[in-house]
Amino acid sequence: MATINGIAVAPGLVRGPVHVVRARADKAPHWTLRHEEIDADLARLRRAIEVVQERLERQKALVERTSGAQDAGIFAVHQMILRDPSALGAVERAIREERVNAESAVQDLVRKLRSTMGQLDGDSVRDYAADLSEPWRVVLDELLERDREQVLATDDSVILAADELSPQVVTFSDPSRILGIVTTTGGRFSHGAVLARAFGIPCVVGLPNLLGRLEQGMNLLVDGDQGRILINPTEEEAKSFDAAKKSRDLRRKALIRVADKPAVTLDGGHLRVMVNLESLRDLGTFNPAHCDGVGLLRTEFLYMERSQFPSEEEQFRLYRRVVDHMEGKVVVFRTLDLGGDKQLPYFTLPEEENPALGWRGLRITLEWQDLMRVQLRAILRAGCLGPVRILLPMVTSIGEVRRVREILNRVREQLIAQGYEVPERVELGVMLEVPSSVLILRDLVKIVDFVSVGTNDLVQYLLATDRDNPFVAKMYEPYHPAVIRSLAYIGRVCRESGCEATVCGDLAGDFVVAMMLLGMGFYGVSVSPHFLAEVRLGVRTTTRERLDRLVHDLAQAGDDREVQALLDGLKAEVQEDMEAGLRA
Ligand code: PEP
Ligand code: MG
Repeated sequence: MATINGIAVAPGLVRGPVHVVRARADKAPHWTLRHEEIDADLARLRRAIEVVQERLERQKALVERTSGAQDAGIFAVHQMILRDPSALGAVERAIREERVNAESAVQDLVRKLRSTMGQLDGDSVRDYAADLSEPWRVVLDELLERDREQVLATDDSVILAADELSPQVVTFSDPSRILGIVTTTGGRFSHGAVLARAFGIPCVVGLPNLLGRLEQGMNLLVDGDQGRILINPTEEEAKSFDAAKKSRDLRRKALIRVADKPAVTLDGGHLRVMVNLESLRDLGTFNPAHCDGVGLLRTEFLYMERSQFPSEEEQFRLYRRVVDHMEGKVVVFRTLDLGGDKQLPYFTLPEEENPALGWRGLRITLEWQDLMRVQLRAILRAGCLGPVRILLPMVTSIGEVRRVREILNRVREQLIAQGYEVPERVELGVMLEVPSSVLILRDLVKIVDFVSVGTNDLVQYLLATDRDNPFVAKMYEPYHPAVIRSLAYIGRVCRESGCEATVCGDLAGDFVVAMMLLGMGFYGVSVSPHFLAEVRLGVRTTTRERLDRLVHDLAQAGDDREVQALLDGLKAEVQEDMEAGLRA
């Protein structure tokens, strides 16, 4: 089969069997069955229906006992709907004749049934105004849950395939069991992409007609460096892929060996290179001696891994582990940044037409101040054990920062009154993610201790291009001159006012971008652990004078291609020195 080219999202080379999964709660995965799999899929479908029928029977009996036969009637109706031979026949035909997997066949039926209300024979259906699709939706959930359990029950690791790169796909199973991820659509800076990089899972998106070409269990080669995949490789192709992987692994080892050296240019320009963390699991993926601290701890992911809000004590324990692990290096705690794709299973946010412009980040925690207070208490207490900083997400105005300052001061006084030890002073910073915060930067720097640019969001808001919307993924262009000029402006204002500025968006993980940021006056970058070594090495091969020239040329660039060409030029220049640096 031919190579399919897509977009490289998370680096690394992997090969293994593919497993197609659903990307979103309302979307079943679709794949083509092999002839020999048809009977097994029909049996899977019947088993799922049986399980749902048994569950309905139990529910009916329970409601009958507690509330009476009238209330229990709806369960009998659902059982009847599942026994309707025409619906079942349509699903079985799709599986047998079109070789469609059971989940996808049931989803098609659910779609059709949604538009038909009460067309089944029998008064009881009409009496209850039953939604005919409801029991079939439960069958669909049952099939999907079984499928997930089946993967989790084996020891095999798989390459996940889905139509979109959503956070649900990346967290489908324990990251150690996911060799790689490939999807039809998805952006490089979507939340799913951020997670894939954080977990170190090689990932390629933008692969046209991917799922139509896949059968469950097919062999895949995934090249997350170049952004391409190969389906069912020949032996020859697999061999040369393995050879490429081996030399890549050797290069990574060489990179790690030199990662303890700081990112200082040949003429003394110093860029602090910190790490972005999402989970305590990430602590095992890097050596604290290879970085200048944690530049961004996305605390919301710690909340997402639980079944209820973590208490102050729980948060304190988690935060203490990070602070202890960093051996005296600074840890920047970003307060809870929920909304859009980042949801908690135990805290239902309202459905919004436009979640990226809606209730998210600081807007939520300023409204639900208990959430903010508990978290600030835990961070302040952890701050006695090592240097910590507090970072606020989605800031749009001075007033928001003032309100947080007041809360922080009250929380601090309260802790002292309760006999807790708290640090003398904890620095407070803001994320620059929204254009308004950039435009008021000269005022902001007077009331904050540091700023950190969230390019993942800043790009989406500057270009009016949703980072999680596959339809506009091509327009999400981080090299747009509006982005480059905003970064240059932030670097200049912060340098002039003596305010530390870092970039913690994923853009900074590319070593030439990190070098550019040093040229623009940034104090540091914060990147996924995987990129630490290369960023540090890249900076060591250049001079401030060369970076000043780059920044001067970038200011004249009229479009993203000119920006790309300038950065590629620098990359080509330093490549040889970087390889020499690895051999030294
Ligand atoms: C960003 O927006 O760049 C950022 C670092 O925050 P997140 O990706 O978590 O939205
Ligand atoms: Mg953000």
